[in-house]
Order: sequence, then structure tokens, then C-alpha cells
Amino acid sequence: PVELDRDVVVIGAGISGLVTARRLVEAGHTVAVLEARDRVGGRTWSQEIDGSFFEIGGQWVSSDQDALKALLAELGKETFPRYRDGNSVYVARDGDRREFRGAFPVASSTLEEIDRLVAALDALAAEMDVDAPWAHPRAGELDSIQFSSWLASLSDDEEARRIVDHYIAAGMLTKRSHTFSVLQAMLMVASAETFENLIDEGILLDARVVGGMQSVSEQIAAELGDAVFLGAPVRRLSWGPSSVVALADGVTVRARFAVVAVPPPLYSRISYEPALPRLRQIAHQHQSMGLVIKAQAAYDRPFWRSAGLSGTGFASHEVVCEVYDNTSPHEERGMLVGFVVSERAEEMWALPAEDRKRAILESFAAYFGPEALAPAAFLLADWGSEEWTRGAYASSYELGGLSRWGHVQNEPVGPIYFASSDIQGAGYMHVDGGVRIGDATATRIAERLTA
Ligand code: FAD
Repeated sequence: PVELDRDVVVIGAGISGLVTARRLVEAGHTVAVLEARDRVGGRTWSQEIDGSFFEIGGQWVSSDQDALKALLAELGKETFPRYRDGNSVYVARDGDRREFRGAFPVASSTLEEIDRLVAALDALAAEMDVDAPWAHPRAGELDSIQFSSWLASLSDDEEARRIVDHYIAAGMLTKRSHTFSVLQAMLMVASAETFENLIDEGILLDARVVGGMQSVSEQIAAELGDAVFLGAPVRRLSWGPSSVVALADGVTVRARFAVVAVPPPLYSRISYEPALPRLRQIAHQHQSMGLVIKAQAAYDRPFWRSAGLSGTGFASHEVVCEVYDNTSPHEERGMLVGFVVSERAEEMWALPAEDRKRAILESFAAYFGPEALAPAAFLLADWGSEEWTRGAYASSYELGGLSRWGHVQNEPVGPIYFASSDIQGAGYMHVDGGVRIGDATATRIAERLTA
């Protein structure tokens, strides 16, 4: 086995770990990056399948994600806008299909209720320090209220509640809204500054990276060269006051600092010697992954466009509850991407593959008609079965967890730091958050290395 001495060992070659490593190297320090998989990029991943280019994980860049945009510029990466010309589709609970532009095609009283709920959430989020939700004066109380109950206490309009609920629960945390708190929902909003930034698909799903989001990690890894080890899951991390030894399959790295750049639910895959302090061992059990299937279907042409449709659609009761045009530039084929969330995703995985495919394509057809039933290529991203991820998009606290344990998530344990988009404030749960926590973690460690 290879044995190395480095200033810092980084565990995980997702965007968070790779940015941490890049910044440390820029500051003149030596690093080794140990990655469990045979590829870099973690929850960003692309593949050519049946003649189409699929982004299987994170892909969109929001127009307000400055840290990610700065990194893309630094790497010379280009982006392209999402296709959004034409009408969007809204399918109401009674099956009524409505085309629209701008505001949702619901009763004006419902739109007013949505505005009122959003204003209430924005007001709470504005009171929050996004880096310290647990420090909010009412953190404990807000963390004890289910998001679903809170919405119900504010509005009798079922459709307005369902739409606002959908954005946070299905659209972001990919958990049902009775399983997380108002405080957790506030963090989600504060991480994008306002609810508008989080839900306006014009802002949130603004652009994609030419070559796919994974290519960002691939380029950083290529520049790090032989500092990156693939197929090297870290099994044990021994640590003392000022040093660590990371034992991975085939590689052992001695270093002054370690960065555990894996999603929180995977922390306990590593054996720590000595064990982590009691509070960490408890805290690390209370963040869990959401579950969503990213479903993509490629067609010989983007047939919805000629019907005047943008490819955007919403129907919170449908199997596929939101859908967008995901066509790549320079491809003749058109692609739709849709999302199947939480229990719905579990129901789908319980079906035989053919039935699952049919159910999902029928749902695409509810938005765009029968042409959607016959794709040329089709892919369901199964992150829940990936040993080194175990869910999608990201992890969040169970009810009551954020106020009780959040305060330790970003603190080092001796020479061990933690870095993941899932424990970051601004950009929480997004690639942008991974870039931000990578920058910040490198700065914190570099200060100690040069002290
Ligand atoms: P990860 O990417 O999970 O990286 C962790 C790495 O650690 C992995 O490579 C893993 O293999 C490795 N690892 C784990 N355990 C070990 C171990 N013991 N030893 C060594 N290595 C280990 N974000 C957006 O901004 N826009 C989007 O459009 C978007 N869509 C998404 C769609 C899907 C389907 C998913 C899954 C995510 C999406 N996200 C999106 C979220 C975004 O992809 C993540 O927030 C981000 O990629 C997380 O980066 P990370 O480095 O913190 O974690």
C-alpha cells in the first residue's frame, strides 16, 4: 500500500472536498484526496447513455450563486441557459390541465394566500443568521413545529398551502413536510436569501454547465493530478491533538489535518480512533437524506416546443411533480427532466422496472401529451442505492435536530474538519454551498497551518 505524508488529507472528491484541496494547494500546502468511488464529482455525475448526454445529479446554476459562478469563471467553464420560451403547464388536483405564463393559474384569492405565506416565511428567514440558525431567539420553538402544521395554522386555502409546501418539501428537502420543522424550512429559504430566489425557476434553474456539472470536479481533480486517489474509501481515521492518519483501501495518509468532505449521514462509515466526542456521536445520527428520483427522457426532437410549450410543468399530486426542458445544446434530441419525490419515489422503486417506466412516462404525458410516452432514451437516477451517497438531493435535520445539534456541525474536532454542501449556510444543499464551504474550510485550516 501507498504511504504518504501530507499537510492535509481530504476525504471525498465531491465539489466540497475538491475545492478545499484546490485552495490549500494554492496556499502552498500539500494535500491528498481520498475518494471511495472510481470517479470524482460525488453527487454530480454525467454519462452518455443510448445516444444522449445525461446529467444524473446536480446540474443547474442559479443566477444568484456567486461562489459557483466565480469558480466556473476561474476554470474557464461556460454555461448555457435553460430553454424556457412558451407556456408552462399546471395540472390541478382534479386533473384540469392549464397552460400559463407568469403567476400560477389558480384563483386570485389563492395567489394572495401564497403571497401571504411566502411573506411570513421570508420575514422569519430574514431574522435568521444563515450560518447559525440555532442562534435564532426562537430556534427551539420554531424547530418543534412541523412545517405542515405551521402552514395549516396560517391558511385555510388548501391549494395555496400545497403549492408553498411543495416548493420546500418536494422541491428542496425531498421529505414530507410533517417530518421537518419551520426552522429547517427557514434555513432553506435563508440559504437563498429569499423564497423568491428559491422558487423562481427563472433564477433557480437558470443555466447549466457546458460539458455537465461533473466536469467542474473533473477539471479540478485533473489539476490536482496524482494528489487524488480513486477507489480509496477511508475506513479509519486515527487522530490526536495535532495529527491524523487516514487509512483507505490501498493508501495511508499521515497529515496534520483531515477534512471529512462526505455527506453527514456517511460520517459513521468511518471508524474514528479515538471515538469522536459524545455530542458528535449523538448529533451525527440526526441528519438524514431526502429521497427523489431524477427522471429523464430524451425524444427525437423537443416536440413540446412546437406546441408552444416551455417544457416546464407543475402538478403536486402527479407521480412526476415538476418537469423542465433539459435539452443539451448541440443535441438534436429534446430532453425532459422530472422529479418523483419521497414516498412516491419509494412506491416507484417497489414496482417492476417496466411498470415503473410506464408510470413515469404517463406522468410526463399528463403534461405534454402522448408523444411523451415513447422516448428514445430514458434514465432514472437511483441515488438511494448508491453506497457512497444514500439518497438525494441532500441531508437535513429531523424535527428538533437543527436547534439542538446544528451548532456543532461546522466545528472541528481537534484536527478534523467537516465540509459538505449539507452543513453550509448560503448555498445549503447546492453545488454553490459546496464551493463556499470548500473555500471557508481551506481558509480555516491554512490559518492554523501557518500559525
Ligand atoms: P458529495 O458530492 O456527496 O461528495 C462526497 C464524496 O465523498 C463522494 O464523491 C463520495 O463518493 C465520497 N465519499 C463518501 N464516503 C467516503 C469515504 N468513507 N471515503 C472516501 N470517500 C468517500 N445542486 C445544485 O446546485 N443544482 C442542482 O441542479 C442540483 N440537483 C441535484 C440533483 C440530484 C439528483 C442530486 C443527488 C443532487 C443535486 N444537487 C443540486 C445537490 C448537489 O449535487 C450537492 O449539494 C453537491 O454536489 C454536494 O457536494 P459535496 O461535495 O458536499 O458532497
